[in-house]
Amino acid sequence: MKKSDIICPNCNAGYRRVELASGARSTGEFRCLLCDHVLEVFDGTVEVAIRLTVQPEKTFQGLNN
Ligand SMILES: [Zn+2]
Repeated sequence: MKKSDIICPNCNAGYRRVELASGARSTGEFRCLLCDHVLEVFDGTVEVAIRLTVQPEKTFQGLNN
C-alpha cells in the first residue's frame, strides 16, 4: 500500500492518497471536494482512495485583523 499526500494547488485543501492492491481499478478523475479542481486523473492501473484530511482556511475573513 503506497501512501502520499496531495495538496490542492487551487484552495490548499489537503488529501491523503492511498494506492490499494485489491485488484479493483480506479478510472476517471478525482476533483477537489471544495473547489472542483482536478487533482488526479486515474488511468485504471491501480485502485486509489483519496480522502480529505485538511480543510483550507475558510475563516480567512474572520481572522483578518
Ligand atoms: Zn481545491
